[in-house]
Amino acid sequence: MRIMPNDLGRQYGLHAAEYESKAIEVLRSGWYILGREVEAFEKEWAAMVGAKHCVGLASGLDALWIAFRLLNIGAGDEVIVSANAYIACVMGITINGATPVFVEPDQYDNIDAGKIEAAITPRTKAILAVHLYGQSCDMDKIMDIARRHDLKVVEDCAQSHGNHWKGQVTGSIGDIGCFSFYPTKGCGAFGDAGCITTNDDDIAARCRVFRNYGSDRRYHNKVVGANSRLDELQAGLLRVKLKYLQDFNEERCRIAARYDAGLNLPGLIKPRIRPGADSSWHQYVVHLPGFRDELAAWLDKNDIGTIIHYPIPPHLSEAYASLGYHRGDFPIAERYAGEVLSLPMYNGMTAEEQEKVIRTINAYRPGCV
Ligand SMILES: *Cc1c(COP(=O)(O)O)cnc(C)c1O
Repeated sequence: MRIMPNDLGRQYGLHAAEYESKAIEVLRSGWYILGREVEAFEKEWAAMVGAKHCVGLASGLDALWIAFRLLNIGAGDEVIVSANAYIACVMGITINGATPVFVEPDQYDNIDAGKIEAAITPRTKAILAVHLYGQSCDMDKIMDIARRHDLKVVEDCAQSHGNHWKGQVTGSIGDIGCFSFYPTKGCGAFGDAGCITTNDDDIAARCRVFRNYGSDRRYHNKVVGANSRLDELQAGLLRVKLKYLQDFNEERCRIAARYDAGLNLPGLIKPRIRPGADSSWHQYVVHLPGFRDELAAWLDKNDIGTIIHYPIPPHLSEAYASLGYHRGDFPIAERYAGEVLSLPMYNGMTAEEQEKVIRTINAYRPGCV
């Protein structure tokens, strides 16, 4: 049996009956958009994050662009983001007409906070802190820089559901936390979904209006908004998932610890965790300088699937050719794109499956493919 990089069916199987009865309950309720499931989920998610408000939205990308829109960041403004971020992070910035300013990642695969100040210009309005692979950015440094330069901080928590920076849950530290509930994320929905979290009453109130065509009363529209509503079915199912989020994170933490203990292939660099941060282990990403593609091929030959997060850094993406960047502009992010590999990691992964992955990796020898 092939080992997949991710297997959502396993996680589903852990609590299938609960999801199914919740789905039937919502289907039979006769109410499908903005109802009591969404309201209850927003309260429960805000409580988990430790933020005053949560507003449900239709996706993680919507959470990002709507967050910048609510902060009035658009054409002529610059937003600082790590050069190895996911493309959606950059789209969340550019959809509003703002310009991404890239900063190299550090050895923890997150933005190198020590390089942020050099990227600040008079047009800089915000820092987008992407907690990549589940690990928190250095939020002390980021919040300090933001305070001194009067910048907003948006956290992209799509991959970091329930992780911490010095005891504080991510999504409660900056001005706005943006979450995706895409099925592969820590607390994944059964379709597309997202939300923002914030302690700011005004941002939360404006977000509720914005997501629903800019109306707070039916057919009375205050602003040109969007249709970005979390639906009742997803919210209901997310409420079931949220009950088990801590268990899921703990299980992935145990899987990560087993990889840490078992992998001993020379040249393989294991994930490093920054002091003060923890990881929800959205991915277990190793660096394989000079032999990533060969090791991935070796694993594939042995029926083990892997994924690359991400093979092309946003500044070299065809979608952003108009920004005018070239290879060599962000050498660290470019090097990472050529050496990172995400090993199989999912709730419900068996010890035998993981043993096979570890054994196969440790048995790799150059030229064996
Ligand atoms: C998944 C993801 C997004 C986008 O979320 P969608 O729900 O797919 O729109 C944004 N940022 C990061 C870091 C992600 O991993």
